[in-house]
Order: sequence, then C-alpha cells, then structure tokens
Amino acid sequence: MKTHAIIYHEDYNKYDLGVDHPLIGDKPKNTMTFLKEKSVLSQFQIFTPKKATEADLLTVHDLSYVEHVKQLSQTGGWLSEDTPAPKGIFEVASLATGGSMCAGEKLFEGFETTVNPLGGFHHTSKGHSSGFCFFNDIAITIEYLRQKHKLKRFLIIDLDVHHGNGTQDIYIDDKTVLNLSFHQDGRTLYPGTGSVETIGREDAVGYTVNLPFPPGTGGVSYLKAFEAIVPPITRQFNPEIILYQSGVDTHHADPLADLNLTYQTYYHLAKHIAALSKETCQKLLVLLGGGYNSNACIKSYYNIFCGLLGNKDFLEEEEIPDTDPEQVQHTVNQLKHYLSEYWSL
Ligand SMILES: [Zn+2]
Repeated sequence: MKTHAIIYHEDYNKYDLGVDHPLIGDKPKNTMTFLKEKSVLSQFQIFTPKKATEADLLTVHDLSYVEHVKQLSQTGGWLSEDTPAPKGIFEVASLATGGSMCAGEKLFEGFETTVNPLGGFHHTSKGHSSGFCFFNDIAITIEYLRQKHKLKRFLIIDLDVHHGNGTQDIYIDDKTVLNLSFHQDGRTLYPGTGSVETIGREDAVGYTVNLPFPPGTGGVSYLKAFEAIVPPITRQFNPEIILYQSGVDTHHADPLADLNLTYQTYYHLAKHIAALSKETCQKLLVLLGGGYNSNACIKSYYNIFCGLLGNKDFLEEEEIPDTDPEQVQHTVNQLKHYLSEYWSL
C-alpha cells in the first residue's frame, strides 16, 4: 500500500478570484500536471474530497460570518478589499476545506503523508477574513480531528511568506495547538502581524511562535533559523499530527513578497519536516498554501514533493545572497530569549 496520498477535485480550479487577481485559478491543475510529468504523482494515492458541511464550518467560524460568505456567493461581491467573492465561491471554499479534512482523515487510515493542494487558508479568523481566504481549513481540520480522533497535541508549521494571523487569532489561548509561523516581517508585508514578541496568551504562552524575517532573507539564513527553532520545539511538544502550510510565496520570483528563497530551500524544508513527522507522530498533513508566480510555484511545490518522498531528483538554482543575515540571527536570538521559559532551545 502507498503511504502518501493527495486530495484533488477538478472543481478546485474554480477557486478563481478573477483574471486581474494575483491568485492563479488553475494552479491545482497545473501542479498535478507537472507532478505527473515528473513521475511523482504515481507515488501518491489520489482521493476525491467532499465539501465541508455548514456544521463543519461552524466548529470554527461564527454563524454570521458563514451566512455572510453564503450571501456574497449568491450575488458576487467583495469579502474584503483584496478578496473578491465570485459567485459560487461558498461551494468551492467548502470543497477546499473538505479536502483538508479528507487529508487529515486519511492519516488515520494508514497514510503517513497527505497533501491538499488547495489548502492553508490561514488569514481567516472566527468572524473575519481577507488575504484571498474564506474558511480556515487548517482550524476546521484540527477541530474535526480533535472531535473524531480525540487528539490533544496539534503542531502547525506555517512557512507561507505571510503571517497566519487568522490561525493565530483562533488558537492564541489554546495550548493544544502549537502554532509556529515563519514569515516576512509584518512591518514590511500584509497582514502586518506576527511579531517575535507575540508568543501566546493566558495558559498558552509559549504555544504561539513567530519568526519574522527582513526583506531580502535568502534560503541559507532561513534554513539555519528553521534548524535552530523547529526541530527542538517539535521534539519537546511531541505532536500527534503535524500540519505543514507550505506556501512558496517566499520564493525570490514571487510578485507579492520580498524573501529570496530558492527551489532547493523547499526540498530541504520538506525533507526536514517529513523526518520530524517520522520521528514523532508519523502523521504529516501538507497544505500547499500561497505562491503567485505560476512557473516558480509549480517548481517549488515539486521540490516539496521531492523532499517528502526523499527523491533526490529535485530542481536547483543559484542561491541568492542574504541581504541581512545578522538581522535574522538577531531575531532568532530574541525568539529564543522570549521562549526560554517554555522550550529548551
Ligand atoms: Zn501567502
């Protein structure tokens, strides 16, 4: 039996916010085609998801918010300034959410790694959203697994270039969900949050971890920071599942942000995370997340798959020098200081 699964539906490609919008509507299809060409897809079992039900959405979101999205979906409109709501988006966003839930469920049916290519909508909180997101599929999947499989320790590793503000709002006071977010410094990028000082609230202090990077950070500094923070915290927390938001808008060619990661960085990150999953829970849920340069993001996702499979046939390009490695090291030291009461780093 295969140990890797991918969740896919043709209707994923209807998550399209318009031709002038940076989100690439047919990215799921293009990703699948490239994976097939590269003979990677055959190593994954493919499953078709069902839409999340309204009851599923309500495990995280306020009823008024769900009703609002449904209403917008009937007429067309705008969820926020950067997020148009085309007709039918309620159904497509529910399907994307159902895809993440299905990927979560498959981890309890014998699969060790599962991927939802249309997942990782981390900007949606309980009753508010922007940043091209409608429902927080990460949180809805966590609540589904909490209820169905009685899990008590969820680890989120969110490496999208944007801070996962919605997920943070939902879990800032919940110590069953350890939320690690690496992102471009909020003083220089949407959504503006995720400062290194924000480490959780009430009895969950230490369970929100933010590492902001200055613009111009390259793969070498990024990987060094990852190695300093993620493996030790993961081992100490000992998660029952790892949810990896693997956004590739950190790539140097991405039009929306200013980090300078290269293709090989994604291979190494995915390989590290797969090894951490093997070492702890053997349950890794990958949500492909953001990426707005169509050529670069398909290749970056491919390298993530290579990292997950341990396939050495990954793509490489010339490394881009870090503009300010001292600043990155300084922030890593600050983070270690803030977390020192909670984790041994
Ligand atoms: Zn992003």
